[in-house]
Order: sequence, then structure tokens, then C-alpha cells
Amino acid sequence: MRRSHTTNTLVIISNHVKSVYDDRWIGDIFHYTGMGQYGHQDLRFAQNKTLNESPISKVKIHLFEVFKARQYTYIGEVFLVDNAYQEQQYDAHKKLRNVWVFPLQLSTGNAPQIPVSSLLSAFKEKEKRVKKFSDAEIEDNARRTQTVSVDRRHTDAPYYLRSVWVAEFAKRRSKGNCELCTKPAPFMRKNGEPYLETHHINWLANGGADSIENTVALCPNCHRRMHILNHLKDIKTLQKKTTPQKN
Ligand SMILES: [Zn+2]
Ligand SMILES: [Zn+2]
Repeated sequence: MRRSHTTNTLVIISNHVKSVYDDRWIGDIFHYTGMGQYGHQDLRFAQNKTLNESPISKVKIHLFEVFKARQYTYIGEVFLVDNAYQEQQYDAHKKLRNVWVFPLQLSTGNAPQIPVSSLLSAFKEKEKRVKKFSDAEIEDNARRTQTVSVDRRHTDAPYYLRSVWVAEFAKRRSKGNCELCTKPAPFMRKNGEPYLETHHINWLANGGADSIENTVALCPNCHRRMHILNHLKDIKTLQKKTTPQKN
């Protein structure tokens, strides 16, 4: 965040390539994580304070997002639409700490179209970073970042912003075996990881949740099968995998 006193503006940047934060759009609201890379974040600190007091100070806030290194996409002028709230996120040292999240909304109009290729490349970068976390940390994050309804961004093709934690959780739960046919992944990636694809049992396009109960890891064959046939029997099999029955 950068503040200019001469123009009474605050520039905030959400960097999806570098940042460890889980900034996200939920519907029309952008949930922006405050400043402070390590330890608990302080609402009285620097630009967190500026952002928090913006409804009173009337400072103009401009939001940029970064999906590719050194490429800043101007999203627009935003305002604090609700009180900042606290949640727990991991810091750059993988320590769980309290952060402040600011719900922001565009003052006018819509966010610009983002190329799907940019969203995918940011997702891949994030994917690499979450590999360093333990199973328990992945599960913890997946439970906290899952969303009931996933909103479409303004993109040049249909694309849904997914939680990288939820995707990683499904892959680890599968232990390298397709969660439908139970066979091992057909091949290994260059980094030695089993190749499986994540799939939402109730499709995101149909309003399915990006949650660990709705996300499975499938071999490419079974993934196609689900998209072409979507048999109720297969759906039930997958649901049993994600929601273990209590007896
Ligand atoms: Zn399979
Ligand atoms: Zn799918």
C-alpha cells in the first residue's frame, strides 16, 4: 500500500504471484488482506490505519492486482464497504497469525476483463508455494478458504477462481490414486508428483461450492467421464470419498 498526501489517494496492490495472502473476490466484494508480512497484523499500523479510517478521511483508494510478475492491472477505485475483520492466515515463515481483512467494493462500474491465461499462471505460482506446507496446514487452510459460492471474474472465457488450498487438499487426500476408479495416477509429473486433475462434484458452473467436500482428484479418463456422463452412481461414489460416513 502507498499513500499520497498531496492527492489524498491510497494505492493498494494485491499481488497474487508473490504474496502469501489469500486475497479474494467473493461476489462483488474484494477481501483484501492488510499489511504486515510476519506476525499478527495491527490495525493501527501505517496503511492499515489509513484504509480502516478511509470512510472518515475520504481518502481515494485505487486497487491494482498482479497476476504475472511486474504486470500491474488497474482494477478501479474502491471503498471500504464494511468493517475490517480478523482471520488467521499463515505468514511468510509459515506461522499462523491474525490478519486484518478489508472488504472493498468498486465505486463505479465493473472490474476489467482479466485474461484466463493470467489467472492460470497466478494459480500455478500459488500451487507451487502451497506444496511446502504440511498435510495438516493444507487441511487447515482448505477449510478456511473454501467458499460456498464461487463467483466468476470478468475474464475473456469462463473461469472460476478456486482455492489452491482446497485443490491441494484433494490431491493429498487421494494419495496419488484416482478417487473414482481408485487406480494410481497414469503418470508422474516432472517433479515426481502423481498427475491427477481436480474436479468439483457439483460443478462450479452449476453453483457448486469450492469446498473440500465438493472437490476430488481424478485421473484424466475419469475426469472426462464425469463431464460427459456425470452418472449419479459415480457422483455418489465420489461423495462418499469426500464425506466419510459416520456409523
Ligand atoms: Zn480414474
Ligand atoms: Zn471437472
